[in-house]
Amino acid sequence: MKIVIVGGGWAGCAASAQAAKNGASVTLLERTDSLLGTGLVGGIIRNNGRFTATEEMAAMGGDDMFRAMDTCLRHKCISFPGHQHADLYDIIKTPVAVEQRLLQLGVSIHRQSRVASADLSGDNTTILSVRDDNGNCYEADGFIDATGTAGPMNNCRQYGNGCAMCVLRCPSFGGRISLCGLTGLTELKAEAHDGSYGAMSGSCKLFKESLSPEIIKALDENGVAVIPLPRELRENHLSIKACQQYALDEFAENIILLDTGHAKMMTPYYPLEKLHQIPGFECARYEDPYAGGKGNSMRYLAMCRRSNSLKVDQRANLFCAGEKAGLLVGHTEAIVTGVLAGHNMVQFLSGRPLLEFPRELAVGEAIAWVREQMETPEGLREKYTFSGSCLFRRMNDLGLYSIDKGYIHKKVEDLGLAGIFA
Ligand SMILES: Cc1cc2nc3c(=O)[nH]c(=O)nc-3n(C[C@H](O)[C@H](O)[C@H](O)COP(=O)(O)OP(=O)(O)OC[C@H]3O[C@@H](n4cnc5c(N)ncnc54)[C@H](O)[C@@H]3O)c2cc1C
Repeated sequence: MKIVIVGGGWAGCAASAQAAKNGASVTLLERTDSLLGTGLVGGIIRNNGRFTATEEMAAMGGDDMFRAMDTCLRHKCISFPGHQHADLYDIIKTPVAVEQRLLQLGVSIHRQSRVASADLSGDNTTILSVRDDNGNCYEADGFIDATGTAGPMNNCRQYGNGCAMCVLRCPSFGGRISLCGLTGLTELKAEAHDGSYGAMSGSCKLFKESLSPEIIKALDENGVAVIPLPRELRENHLSIKACQQYALDEFAENIILLDTGHAKMMTPYYPLEKLHQIPGFECARYEDPYAGGKGNSMRYLAMCRRSNSLKVDQRANLFCAGEKAGLLVGHTEAIVTGVLAGHNMVQFLSGRPLLEFPRELAVGEAIAWVREQMETPEGLREKYTFSGSCLFRRMNDLGLYSIDKGYIHKKVEDLGLAGIFA
């Protein structure tokens, strides 16, 4: 069976790996010249409840992407304000490790292949093929939309501070195009508490070598550097952040840096003139986005309606994963949904029952609860991640958060899901 996966971020890569493991012939189409999408500038994994979700996936045998990341870790088990036992992957090396794993599994990767149209059956329910910007046509039995929600430039202009020239490089490769949207589906927008739409990405990258030797040393040795900000230099962007797990006072009162290869600065943007006034940052320079002094990418403006098995409503052979599947923020969240979508696409094409994660697992509660929440206006104003904010609170309330690997594996085994993705 032939499956086309559109979008090579963490969700598309995880879906590709899983569908290939389940025996499908997989073609992965990516708009830019690199895999990992927004994962090219992320790096934080296993913080707070993401540890539990990662271990649940490992127990089910769906941890190929986590294992690829683990070969490229810069720091293990670090803490920073509000976050425990985080690992940081190297954003420079990880895309290569992921590509190698996908090639081992036989995934056919097409870069600079931006899907720009879709051919549907006469009754508009089934996708027959998609076509990229270069005119190449890809026929398949099933499709997965993993195009994310970041950008394109007009969204950053309309809802944010304009294009900040981020790693997505829309001017060069063309902006994101949603496969669900191309099939005529109306998509959902995240709302902000002030009534505006979308959310701004919550971190920037500084060239490490543009910082003082003391800061570089702290980053190399500890993975983290917390630099208190005098009151007059504080900027409060907490409420606009996509990643609400970092909307804590400490992130406005301090510059918090994490070592992901570059220095990941945990704020959506920060004016360069002000940054240069902070000791140690006199020569600081943005690596991503280039205009990190002014803004960042806007996200969550194109999510689709889907079931808990990640089948897209109203389309017969279309599944979705990652941010496309809802207000789930993060690499771990993208990978969890990617694995499930890849697995279920093959189940569907084989005429076998679709898998839903049980809600006794953190991954099951996340997928089901976010879907329910997105049906309410209040729910559309929240962001959901295993690592903080309302979903992590819920995991704690429901007793779903654990860092006991033995307990997590036993629970998965008792639910009859051990090795289901292996
Ligand atoms: C600056 C920043 C820092 C972050 N830091 C972290 C972090 O440290 N830890 C963490 O867990 N999360 C982090 N996140 C969030 C996390 O990266 C995302 O939530 C997650 O990786 C989304 O994955 P995705 O695959 O759904 O979407 P994306 O990463 O957006 O990937 C979608 C892919 O689809 C491609 N695409 C779009 N349209 C088309 C088309 N028509 N045809 C072909 N390809 C197309 C895009 O080019 C892109 O590669 C960060 C996000 C940003 C923006």
